[in-house]
Amino acid sequence: MKKISEKTINISSPQVGSDEIAAVNTVLKSGMIVQGPVVAELEGKFAEYCGVKFALAVNSGTAALHTALYALGVGEGDEVITTPFTFVATANVILMQRAKVVFADIEEENYNINPEEIVKKVTKRTKAIIAVDLYGNPVKYNELKRICDKHKIALVGDSCQAVGAEYGGQKIGSLSDITAFSLYATKNIMCGEGGLITTDDESLARRCEMFRNHGQDKNTRYEYIDLGYNYRLNDILAAIGLKQSEKIDKLNNQRIENALWLSKELSHVKGLILPKVESGSKHVFHQYTIRVTDKFKGTRDGLLAYLQSKGVGCRIYYPKPLHLFPQFNERRDRRGEYPVAEKAAEEVMSLPIHPQLTKEDLLYIVNLIKSF
Ligand SMILES: *Cc1c(COP(=O)(O)O)cnc(C)c1O
Repeated sequence: MKKISEKTINISSPQVGSDEIAAVNTVLKSGMIVQGPVVAELEGKFAEYCGVKFALAVNSGTAALHTALYALGVGEGDEVITTPFTFVATANVILMQRAKVVFADIEEENYNINPEEIVKKVTKRTKAIIAVDLYGNPVKYNELKRICDKHKIALVGDSCQAVGAEYGGQKIGSLSDITAFSLYATKNIMCGEGGLITTDDESLARRCEMFRNHGQDKNTRYEYIDLGYNYRLNDILAAIGLKQSEKIDKLNNQRIENALWLSKELSHVKGLILPKVESGSKHVFHQYTIRVTDKFKGTRDGLLAYLQSKGVGCRIYYPKPLHLFPQFNERRDRRGEYPVAEKAAEEVMSLPIHPQLTKEDLLYIVNLIKSF
């Protein structure tokens, strides 16, 4: 990689210790490296952590979301409501099940889907809502659940960025009918590539198990009950995930501490809007995302380029809302349809916040912003 400045601070940095390495070695030496006892142990520990009956491991967060929609029976003719301001996988899985993607705009202050906008989009065909806890900040679960109960719609949590987050004293993963997590390398806990699904519903859990393994019932091999995929996680990666799962709170708390410090230091910079946390929520800061408004002394893109030139790996999540991409745009110009999301895409940027940052790194970032 080209060295662009004296200092380099990456936007993410997976924390792999000697315990992860030892655990991988143990699996490799055991000769049992496909989905086996370590996957089962990871599932058990994660279910316990989230306070749910079932956790199922799969090989990505995308697979977790796709499997969740399958388990709920989402298919052709159904509509699924979600946010346009998210990573593309959230909406791609709806298309994978041949259902219709219906977007609802976000809230200005927290970038999450706006319950009032959801209500406007509910029809007889609405089968599910996929709620994304963007940047690690929980959606308004109480309001979403009320809407779902009233209209008999399923609530799917895309909590790929929010492992360990809490809402109203409850862990994310226990608040939706079914929740998807990602263990991708940049997420708050990771195993390279992987995913987890949580639910309290036994029949949903059984359908997930089938779908991740070619549509086979777990006790009857080579009896293909329905269409399925190979979405299995293996024990090598599960060993990393298991060690990481023991550190969720420690890693998240370091992110939260970094976020508090940044917010304190940046609170007096004119024209920046800093992340807000609702009382009763535990935001786990997968990203620390600021909004650069026109009251700031420069542009968002100017600040981004400046920080990057000084070695600070800041990024925009996400530069373009999903309704503007061809697979979702229904062959028309949809600019202006989700104005809050479109404005956010023009103004947000995320600063490094990961647990490996030192106080010196944070101070370096803050001083650059102040002196810009
Ligand atoms: C990371 C992520 C996904 C997909 O997870 P993968 O493990 O990369 O497949 C889905 N939704 C959101 C919001 C994500 O951040």
